[in-house]
Amino acid sequence: MSNGPNGLKILEKERKNLLIAEVAGLLHDIGKFCDVHISTHVDNTPPFFRQWPKSLSGAYKIAVVDPASVIKIKPGGPFDGALRKLFGMGSPRLADLLSEEAQKALTETGICLEGVFYSLAELIMLARPGLAHCSNLTNSLKKDAWPMTALGICHGVAHVDKQEPIGGKQSFFDVRASTAFGFEHRQIRPDGSHDGLTYHLNKLPLKSADDYKMIRSALGRLLPLGLGDTRRPVNEVTLWDWSFAVASLYKAAVAGSLLVTGQKPDARGWLDRKKHLLDHDFQWRLLRIGINGLAFLARSPKLGDLLGRKQALEDTLDRLKELFEVTYPLGNEVYRDENGSAFLVPDLAEDKEGTRLRGLVKPVILDEFRNGSLQGEVVPELSVSAPSDKAERLHELLREPPPVPRAFPEAVAECWEDEREDICTACGLRPQGHGAPNNFYRDKARERGVCYLCLKRRAQRAEAWACEKGPEWSRTIWIDEVSDRNGRLALLVGRFDLTNWLDGTYIKTLLVRIGKDQDDYVSKNPSFARLRRVWETTKRFWEAVNEEDIPLFIETSCRRVEVRPEDRDTVKDNLGDYHVYEADLAGVRTSLVWDPDRNRFLSADNLCRLAEVIAGPGAAGLCEPSKAVDLVCNRLGKLDKIPLYEPGGYGRVRQPHVVFRPRETRVIKQSYTPTIPILAEPATFMALIPADRALEVAHKIKKRFETEMGKVRNRLPFFLGLVFFDRRQPLFSAVDAARRMLASELPPESWAVRYTRRIGKTVCEIVFQNGISWQVPVVMGDFNTHDDWYPYYLVEKDAAGRAPSWRRLRFSLEEAGEERYWIHVENLAPYDRVKIYPARFAYLHLDTSARRFEAGSRPFRLLEELDEMVRLWQDLEITARAGRLTDTGLRGIEALFENKREMWGLNEPSKDAGSRRQRAERDHSSLVFAELVKATLRKERLEDVVQPEQVTNGVLTGTLDLYMRIMKRRLADFTQKEV
Ligand SMILES: [Zn+2]
Repeated sequence: MSNGPNGLKILEKERKNLLIAEVAGLLHDIGKFCDVHISTHVDNTPPFFRQWPKSLSGAYKIAVVDPASVIKIKPGGPFDGALRKLFGMGSPRLADLLSEEAQKALTETGICLEGVFYSLAELIMLARPGLAHCSNLTNSLKKDAWPMTALGICHGVAHVDKQEPIGGKQSFFDVRASTAFGFEHRQIRPDGSHDGLTYHLNKLPLKSADDYKMIRSALGRLLPLGLGDTRRPVNEVTLWDWSFAVASLYKAAVAGSLLVTGQKPDARGWLDRKKHLLDHDFQWRLLRIGINGLAFLARSPKLGDLLGRKQALEDTLDRLKELFEVTYPLGNEVYRDENGSAFLVPDLAEDKEGTRLRGLVKPVILDEFRNGSLQGEVVPELSVSAPSDKAERLHELLREPPPVPRAFPEAVAECWEDEREDICTACGLRPQGHGAPNNFYRDKARERGVCYLCLKRRAQRAEAWACEKGPEWSRTIWIDEVSDRNGRLALLVGRFDLTNWLDGTYIKTLLVRIGKDQDDYVSKNPSFARLRRVWETTKRFWEAVNEEDIPLFIETSCRRVEVRPEDRDTVKDNLGDYHVYEADLAGVRTSLVWDPDRNRFLSADNLCRLAEVIAGPGAAGLCEPSKAVDLVCNRLGKLDKIPLYEPGGYGRVRQPHVVFRPRETRVIKQSYTPTIPILAEPATFMALIPADRALEVAHKIKKRFETEMGKVRNRLPFFLGLVFFDRRQPLFSAVDAARRMLASELPPESWAVRYTRRIGKTVCEIVFQNGISWQVPVVMGDFNTHDDWYPYYLVEKDAAGRAPSWRRLRFSLEEAGEERYWIHVENLAPYDRVKIYPARFAYLHLDTSARRFEAGSRPFRLLEELDEMVRLWQDLEITARAGRLTDTGLRGIEALFENKREMWGLNEPSKDAGSRRQRAERDHSSLVFAELVKATLRKERLEDVVQPEQVTNGVLTGTLDLYMRIMKRRLADFTQKEV
């Protein structure tokens, strides 16, 4: 049996068929993508809006005006009656909404298997689980029907089984889609307007149904507006999630039939008609290409290297996606994160261990990693799941730890033949200067201690930036531009632990329905489309942080300055294209980037900070960014000459690389937002932001988490971390610290309920015995429908120590062999012990690079403390504004507390350590300390601002640490501004 691309040749040959098969899957429920369909399935539809004919289901499937002309049936066959009913169906039908050209294209475009043609129209009309009994349908039609029944089976598999909610109909006037976690947003208005689906249906390029790229991209853009089902609570799967799942299953199934002659999956009919379970012999596998993305990124000395590496990883995975989805269409990429991607592929007959499958894809994957953008820097790990008839084994592959990062040994060895150079400081693999096209670039690379590939990666980012387009320009790619006025940055990191969600366990804690009786409930099934919806929801969360939350709090009107040199030729001949240089502006250093294509230098620094250095701190007017930039621009223009140095190497006496005369300077109009997104993956987030705004941003993210994930926050482990560092510090240590934080466990705890109460109509507040209170949303997005489906809590035992087996709105699930009870938040009772995954928060100030080893070693704080710190600082500011507190005073009070704590041994970590006597002594000291705190706060008239517990539990110290020492805020700032 042949392997590699050779083994995949048949797929290449049949490419057109396989791509159209995918399109058939994407279009199989296109009849749901119109206002008529929505009107039919919601309440309060005004009478003049069209609905599908009541007596007949299936009008939404009729894609052509005359179905009999497309579907040729044998009279008297098993489905004879059903098919004739279909043909005779009255208006409105899907066909009434499609143009003649679209219908023609659907009839003429199709797949041709073993010389038999199956049009898209046929596939749309006949692919239904009800008709998926293959031999029966074949007997009814004048041809082998398996390609049609196969699509019907994929439809059935994507459902897992059909779960019917009770009621749950939405109102015509307010149709909403939900995220995986029950957070709803307004989706469309089914009223025939531009906000309706029919309008978008007509925008789909259906008449070019055979143009795969065009139709797939249009469907990917528009289908998310539709819904798989409009009823609550199954309105969380969009029509895209749903159709994409079916299309991916179908594409892989057809690919399997081409790879193994005679592998035509069959359905023998119903396994369980009520549950819509088909008896079929289809099997799929998941194929994972694993890398250790974070470890690979973390080994970057400079930001340019990190961004370059990230791009190279993305390019490689994009290429593989193209290869397996389009070039040799084997299956679709169904998941991707920082540690690689996963594809849904067919299981092949007589391939128990997946060896044949592995053999087919491995050469393609290795070749891409070896010879593509990554040039052998990373060896991927390939894993294949066991076969499954539901294609739901992704979590098993994701559970495997990412591989140890290593390079292809032969790729490295090749570089060193006849080389005597030092090793590249960026990749640590190739010789410095290696791979350069000529001596000029070989020298340029060697001057910076890197190989040519690493040099090129840095320059590519800068080139994309300098052309004034795209996210690189509207944000930034330079550490110095992100740094705040104190030259500091924060690496903001976040993480969801999705383990229990992606393996389906917690999907089952969401309900499809619950009745009055004890056992009348149905849990959601962890179907393929639903699992996908989970990680799509968290990924979208992080994207919103980048797009909405960060810009809300950081300066978005930062400007850059452009300097044109007088003597262009000298500059051009001596400088590397898009290299960054250190310029000396009469004693003040800043970064300039050489842009040869536009014959100019661009500033790559925080110009507000630079202005303060030039004019002296506190110089009048510099609070305003525009004034600061003008000042820098003027200074540049007045200089006679500007020497440029190679960056780095402080404290050494250096020769300037080039000295140029500025001819013309100007402030560039377009502003930028000083942030650099690094990762926004389903589980992991990383972005650089200015340090002085980091807490506000983190606080906003917490709010978003509470709003969007509030119904499941007890079982969705969440972490936010901040690593503060100086712009001169190696980026490596910050990323390494972040990586350590992200690797920490987020374990569950057992909390006792104090009480719950309803606040208004929409929120239920739980107050726990530990003093924490949560406001949990208990209505759906219309602020009216009661949420019986999402906000459940696992109650370990009630006040009497028993399982709460009889409460209203409860269900039970088995966990580790035990029956566990989940109770609706409103039915929690005092002293219930509930299992909680608390959200966590941590910060670390890298005052030395070695501090990074502390990251993740101390227990994290509760995310709630972030609120407390933000509030405490605000209160301190207010007190200062009222003239009752100064910076010095506050520092004095804190120092007093710290001294006493130290003196009385209260800073020792373990409370239970030591002999009985020692413990007693410490208890006594704690009491004395608490009294001292109270007395001091009273004396300083701060008892209404600082709570004594905030002193003893470290919240005060944390607040002052963050605001005064790290972000360098001063209480006095307020008084100054007011004067
Ligand atoms: Zn290198």
